Amino acid sequence: MSLMENIQQVKQKIKKACEISQRNENEIKMIAVTKYVDIEQTREILELGIQHIGENRVQHALPKYEALSSMGVWHFIGHLQTNKVKQVIGKFDYIHSLDRLSLAEAIDKRAKQLQTKVKCFIQVNISGEESKGGVNPAELIDFCKSIRQYDSIQVIGFMTMAPNIKNQDLIRSVFRGLREWRDQINQEKIFSEPLEELSMGMSNDFEIAIEEGATFIRLGTVLFKN
Ligand SMILES: *Cc1c(COP(=O)(O)O)cnc(C)c1O
Repeated sequence: MSLMENIQQVKQKIKKACEISQRNENEIKMIAVTKYVDIEQTREILELGIQHIGENRVQHALPKYEALSSMGVWHFIGHLQTNKVKQVIGKFDYIHSLDRLSLAEAIDKRAKQLQTKVKCFIQVNISGEESKGGVNPAELIDFCKSIRQYDSIQVIGFMTMAPNIKNQDLIRSVFRGLREWRDQINQEKIFSEPLEELSMGMSNDFEIAIEEGATFIRLGTVLFKN
């Protein structure tokens, strides 16, 4: 299968998931996760009209960014070390992995130096797996309240990762959990603007994520498989 055929197949599946859940396809933005491929394949997918590019490691992301920055919208989706913040802020348009106050402080400080604002997702560890990053849901409200002091950070939504398992009901409950937290935070008006975005769903589970309200899906394998 070619890259173009993979994209077409994914778009069909997005369409179907939207029909099932009576959602508008325009609400779903697909991020091509290019961590498995080189600059040329990243260029290829941009030229095929996929605008959003996701990378999870700074050292892999920067060469692609330097080569192709003006062609796309750049998402940092992986764990971000505080000492790498300088290399990312001012380049990447979105950070999906805000999960601790020390990171927020570093992002805010750098953003102020550059006189910019940074769109962030707060990563939430809904599944409770120890191997996964993210804020513990029990601490989420306090965390959100603390984030408000960093005025160069614009929180736009929440991000999560489902466990890598077969049980579809369990996967669904993780995505639904993230949506319910988003709705609760909005209901309590923790932020001045309601949070609109949910970054959830990967190659194995994006259809379920769409049915549960995803607005950004992050796809690697399913796009770049041969
Ligand atoms: C790698 C990665 C993805 C994409 O995973 P696939 O299963 O290949 O689609 C999505 N989100 C994050 C945070 C990742 O690291």
